[in-house]
Amino acid sequence: MAFSPYQDSYQCIPCGLECDRATYTKPGQCPHCQMQLVKKSTVTFRTIQPSEVCGYISKHPGVVLLDVRTTAEFDGKTDNYGTLKNAINIPIQELEGRYLELNEFKDKEIIVYCSHSRRSPRASYFLTTKGFANVVNMEGGMRVMTDNSCKK
Ligand SMILES: [Zn+2]
Ligand SMILES: [Zn+2]
Repeated sequence: MAFSPYQDSYQCIPCGLECDRATYTKPGQCPHCQMQLVKKSTVTFRTIQPSEVCGYISKHPGVVLLDVRTTAEFDGKTDNYGTLKNAINIPIQELEGRYLELNEFKDKEIIVYCSHSRRSPRASYFLTTKGFANVVNMEGGMRVMTDNSCKK
């Protein structure tokens, strides 16, 4: 096996906080967010900016949109961030039990988002560990998305 500089490097399961950038030499727990440390090489999802999302969707109509907020947030009952047209809502708390509902999209591109991009990186990571090959996290979350053209 070729030498990889990341071979023995660990980071916390992506949580959207500053500590995601810290690296450790051993597995364990992140002292900041208390999340488990995982091999950096296993963090394979990509990112997209909220300002790019609507344009991206119009050019790639097959992209799957996954909102991992609570159903109340998805329905706009707790804030006015809105959600995206044609999005699927699986709250992150339920993702482990429900991700098989997404199985038909395993090889499709999936954009994952939440309100502040605190939950979506964790959800994105989780999906990649379950074999989803093309996962993209929306940075910043719906809170900072000002383009309304692809919102519901
Ligand atoms: Zn983290
Ligand atoms: Zn952390």
